[in-house]
Amino acid sequence: MVSSIKAVRGMNDILPDQSYRWIHFEQTIHQWLAAYGYRNLRTPILEQTDLFVRSIGEVTDIVEKEMYTFIDHLNNDSLTLRPEGTASCVRAVIEHNLLYGSPQRLYYLGPMFRHERPQKGRYRQFHQVGVEALGYEGPDSDAELIIMCARLWKLLGISGLRLEIGTLGNSETRATHRVDLLKYLEQHRDKLDEDSLRRLYTNPLRILDSKNPALQEIIHDAPKLIDYLDSESETHFQQLQKTLREQDIAFTINLRLVRGLDYYNRTVFEWVSDQLGAQGTVCAGGRYDGLVEQVGGKPAPACGFAMGIERLLALMEQNDVASPPAPDGYIVHQSEDRGEFAWKCAEFLRDHGFDIVLHCGGGSFKAQMKKADNSKARYALIIGDDEVQAKQITVKSLRESTEQVRLNLTDVMQLIRR
Ligand code: ATP
Ligand code: MG
Repeated sequence: MVSSIKAVRGMNDILPDQSYRWIHFEQTIHQWLAAYGYRNLRTPILEQTDLFVRSIGEVTDIVEKEMYTFIDHLNNDSLTLRPEGTASCVRAVIEHNLLYGSPQRLYYLGPMFRHERPQKGRYRQFHQVGVEALGYEGPDSDAELIIMCARLWKLLGISGLRLEIGTLGNSETRATHRVDLLKYLEQHRDKLDEDSLRRLYTNPLRILDSKNPALQEIIHDAPKLIDYLDSESETHFQQLQKTLREQDIAFTINLRLVRGLDYYNRTVFEWVSDQLGAQGTVCAGGRYDGLVEQVGGKPAPACGFAMGIERLLALMEQNDVASPPAPDGYIVHQSEDRGEFAWKCAEFLRDHGFDIVLHCGGGSFKAQMKKADNSKARYALIIGDDEVQAKQITVKSLRESTEQVRLNLTDVMQLIRR
């Protein structure tokens, strides 16, 4: 026997019993973003490797060890499957000069790829919705992004998410803080773990992001970025908080919120759930004023966020908000015209907006009725020789114990209309 081929580890098939939830989710996302004036952007899944190295930063989990990078042997280009969407979005905005004249509210949604250890809530192909406001200095834009998330949780029927916000100041803030942080961490060098030692001189701020319990005390007492804030960043952060309070958005300030990517400054935020175990962050974002210039565009401020669709769907599943789709009718047929009338009926009903499954493959009425029931259709629409003669359909409810009736097509439509 030939050995079977399996999907790539950490990359999931989304089967029909799940995918209707995805469809419901995606439809909600498009409506939600339209309500805020955000427009959809679709970029390729592959980019030049340099784009991610330059934008995300060399000393990050993503670039150090998570990217799917390969050489296109047809022309020797180094290509990478996108690990996130902001870099591609910024690249496209620069390439097509979208910021010329006006700022842009943009969003995208789709698969991202990271070579991580697969576990619950962490996959190698996963999906994100990304929302970016480019050309806006904020803090009103920062507030808008957060406030619109709060609305989405309501639309999706998700509750219990916690909002944490923080600020990273500007690059000088981080440079001065870095000096003191390094001094402090060097004093506690003996207590650092392997990851932290590796990052000590390359990206010490990220050590504060460590989830290692053994490090929590050192992290707790480390110099805090907020004590180094420049006055403009301070005002920006205060104004954001004021707007959130005015709009009744509850939040906590997390002084240790450090985003995994290098390009953030000022505002950072995360929405976190307690119902997902260790992988509790469903949405993460912030401001990245330096990125557009870093990727080769004219300097432009920007902020945005990305949310993990798998994690949000896991929360939605717990609340079971979407119901699986069911056809309105399943046509069961066996007649001397070899299905001619049945086909006509099916197309006619579809013309009028009904979802109809036409039985294929023949078989006895009894066998077909079983298939009709399994299809979850609300009605069996039965067509035998008598029905063909009379140009009628016998309608039998599959969900209620009502008598079956033989009707003209127009009356069938009356009856099965939701
Ligand atoms: P984490 O700390 O969980 O590794 P991250 O900082 O790498 O997260 P981001 O790059 O900010 O995550 O991505 C935004 C969101 O995308 C995360 O909050 C999460 O919901 C989701 N996400 C990130 N990586 C994965 C993954 N491998 N599988 C599923 N979802 C993911
Ligand atoms: Mg990660």
